[in-house]
Amino acid sequence: MATAPDSPFPDWHSFPILVTLDRLESKPEGLDPVQVQERLAHYGRNELQEMHQRSRWQILWDQFKNIMLLLLIAVAVISAITDLIQSLQEQRFIFPKDTVAILSIVILNGLLGYVQESKAEQALAALKKMSSSRVRVLRAGQVQEVNAPELVPGDVVLVEAGNRLPADGRWLVTANLQVREAALTGEALPVTKQADVVLPADTELGDRVNLGFMGTEVIQGRGTLVVTQTGMSTQLGKIAAAIQAVEVEPTPLQRRMDQLGKVLVVGALILVALVIVGGTLYQPSMFGALVQVSLSMAVAVVPEGLPAVVTITLALGTRRMMQRRALIRRLPAVETLGSVTVVCSDKTGTLTQNKMVAQAVGLPEIGLIQVTGTGYQPQGEFLQGDHPFAPQSHPDLMGFLLTGLLCNDAIWQQDQGEWVILGDPTEGALLPLAAKAGLTAGGQTLERVAEFPFSSERKRMSVVVSTDDQAVYSLLRGDFLLLCKGSPELTLECCDQVQRQGQVQDLTPAQRQEILEQNNTLASQGLRVLGLAYRALDALPPQPSAAGLEQGLIWLGLVGMLDAARPEAKLAVARCHMAGIRVVMITGDHQLTACTIAKDLGILRPGDEILTGRELEQLDPAELAARVGRVAVYARVSPEHKLHIVQALQKTSQVVSMTGDGVNDAPALKQADIGVAMGITGTDVSKEASDMILLDDNFATIVAAVEEGRVVYGNIRRFIRYILGSNIGEVLTIAAAPLIGLGGTPLSPLQILWMNLATDGIPALALAIEPGRAVVMHQPPKDPKESIFARGLGAYMVRVGIVLALVTIALMVWAYQYTNNTEIPGLDPRRWQTMVFTTLCISQMGHALAVRSDSRLLIELNPGSNPWIWWAVGLMTLAQVLIIYVPALRAFFNVFYLPPGELLICMAFSTLVFVWVELEKLVIRRLWPGRETEG
Ligand code: ATP
Repeated sequence: MATAPDSPFPDWHSFPILVTLDRLESKPEGLDPVQVQERLAHYGRNELQEMHQRSRWQILWDQFKNIMLLLLIAVAVISAITDLIQSLQEQRFIFPKDTVAILSIVILNGLLGYVQESKAEQALAALKKMSSSRVRVLRAGQVQEVNAPELVPGDVVLVEAGNRLPADGRWLVTANLQVREAALTGEALPVTKQADVVLPADTELGDRVNLGFMGTEVIQGRGTLVVTQTGMSTQLGKIAAAIQAVEVEPTPLQRRMDQLGKVLVVGALILVALVIVGGTLYQPSMFGALVQVSLSMAVAVVPEGLPAVVTITLALGTRRMMQRRALIRRLPAVETLGSVTVVCSDKTGTLTQNKMVAQAVGLPEIGLIQVTGTGYQPQGEFLQGDHPFAPQSHPDLMGFLLTGLLCNDAIWQQDQGEWVILGDPTEGALLPLAAKAGLTAGGQTLERVAEFPFSSERKRMSVVVSTDDQAVYSLLRGDFLLLCKGSPELTLECCDQVQRQGQVQDLTPAQRQEILEQNNTLASQGLRVLGLAYRALDALPPQPSAAGLEQGLIWLGLVGMLDAARPEAKLAVARCHMAGIRVVMITGDHQLTACTIAKDLGILRPGDEILTGRELEQLDPAELAARVGRVAVYARVSPEHKLHIVQALQKTSQVVSMTGDGVNDAPALKQADIGVAMGITGTDVSKEASDMILLDDNFATIVAAVEEGRVVYGNIRRFIRYILGSNIGEVLTIAAAPLIGLGGTPLSPLQILWMNLATDGIPALALAIEPGRAVVMHQPPKDPKESIFARGLGAYMVRVGIVLALVTIALMVWAYQYTNNTEIPGLDPRRWQTMVFTTLCISQMGHALAVRSDSRLLIELNPGSNPWIWWAVGLMTLAQVLIIYVPALRAFFNVFYLPPGELLICMAFSTLVFVWVELEKLVIRRLWPGRETEG
């Protein structure tokens, strides 16, 4: 067993590489599967324990800080006091039923909130885990991808720019490797790492350049690391920094709901004060009855069920998005998604499949050569016009292919009989291309001695290889060769010579022009084009740099690769346009490549503009903001341009979603209203900066998430209008009773709580899962600043509240007179209250059915599309009937037996609200034909 975490040799930086590997009982080609299993069992998973999480008690306690619950507690206390006073006056024990009921509801509500919140925290933690990084490891000589928690000491890990180091380790190979260790040392400047040094044992942590630490970020370059410590034994584990702390952030809507709660509570208190003070001044003997009325009003005004329904709806929304492959990292994103007005998307991999296949090669002397074959298969031919072209007889072509093969970090291998690429597909495409001419990586003896990895800013990559013979394929000459590939224009700028028929010649302006034209020809076919060049070096400078070596290059040729558009992307773009959302393509590729693909996908439409990174740099922020509304394609841009684009769009009041995958995309992702990272190809740093991760890297998934966001927001508005409409109806009914001279309150606090939580709350939950209708993607995005009551919602609530109250008051007046008619024997004079209670509850059932759609009648909807609403309405109606007919429930809710005839009268009155809402829809349709909206 290896000596790792609890080893007596913690000073890994003071050992040479071989000693380190020996101590860890590992090898450069990694551990074998048996060793991995043993070590996993011995050391446990490579995870940090979660810190800074709220304790269970803290979560529970937080529930009772809610102002609405505090109001209810106050009502419970006052209710207890009035019952006590009454007990004393009447000299008999009166059980404080309302108090007990209200306190039970308070406790239940608190517990429910607790369960929901801890569920939400668990779910977020689980989501975090799912988004936890995948790591490339070498095990038994094979490169594999595993989850970071599955790493063990002795594992050999391959990292590159954008990765967060998954464990502590000793570097075996470093290539231009820069790591930011701020997470550990607080030092923001990146540290250059070096594998081949051995340091004194007392070297400070920040200076241990041959070690890598968990949680630090690779900013640039590439490296191989053997894991020395995992999990809590790492440096980060020791200082127990909680980089994984889960944040449960309220969404803007939840914040607004909190505010609404406060407004309602203050409103309730004012109302109570007015009723008690005004009423008592008017008629002092009414004080007791007025207190009862005020308590009922206070309970009626507060929508007790609302916060729970909002939270559940948002949580269900994230679940549905997850099923559609969009992982939400921050809850507020669910809501913001519904307001997105511009979707900015990378091209490669998001709009296209990122399966590059080389289709053409352009050489200076020979011109364009087509390459046949499908996918990553090694079979294929080179054709010039219609004639076969033998690559082996053309040294220029062989040198060109060899350069593509060696200046390459991708791995091309067979997996269960199928050829696959690991690593960058742009580089991968060059491997089967070379194989079609008989060249493979295994056949090469040239050793890589230096490298300058690809970066989106330089748009090229170079390696230096040492050559033992003087000439490779009799054309690439020198002791060392610098091999370079990258964007053709930028690579050509570094060239002053060209290779033609095995000869190196000076590059004339006409030849330069010819190369650029070849590039344009390939790019305008929608191909991604790379330019290849090389240079011979007699010696390797002591400190090789890209700037120093990538100049005076010899141009070799171009390769054009096809990256087909995703078939579903075109439809998704069309859906965005229908939904009033602009789609913008942002790519590092050539403008002609971008333009062809953007036209094909429908992103670039007549009148739209294309802007290149260079042109963008010439514009000041105001000029960019003025143009940003017309630009549909940004080509040859670097990641930092993305930030300017987001800012300019936001300046013109757009709500921007922006995709990104690299380290340098992080600022733009943070700045965007919805930062979207790629689940498969995205770097850890970009994922951490994002609001949402696309599990399939697919553009269509963004559109699916936007649609879900709209549905969620629409459903929230739907049940808010439903619940608050009911509250308004209740308050008006209660207030009307003493005003029209009926003694006491028609509804007790207990009955109101039952209505708000059960008869309103349960159908509201069913409304929260109302499926989306196609029309949500036919209407423009909502204004993110709009109030939740905007677009007629507030007016609707008040209108329906008043209708509900009028219906109930009409019934109340009739029922009061009827039950107080002394000529009819056997009538309980308080039975009218039960009828009011029943009518209010059952009216809400009809309202729930009518409110399902904003513009369609209930009979026009598919009855099976939301079975839950039928269940909810059926169950709650049954419950209401049971309350009247089961003696124990009757006693508990303080209601009276209603003969079936009276129940039918209540039901008849109850249908009126349903009829009203349906009629409203018909009238609106008449007035504005063709206007169909939802949400
Ligand atoms: P998109 O936005 O469409 O996803 P991108 O921004 O990722 O594209 P980059 O990867 O930055 O684009 O590529 C920009 C250009 O750099 C490409 O057009 C290509 O010419 C060149 N290039 C891409 N990958 C490599 C690589 N691995 N080695 C050398 N050059 C590359």
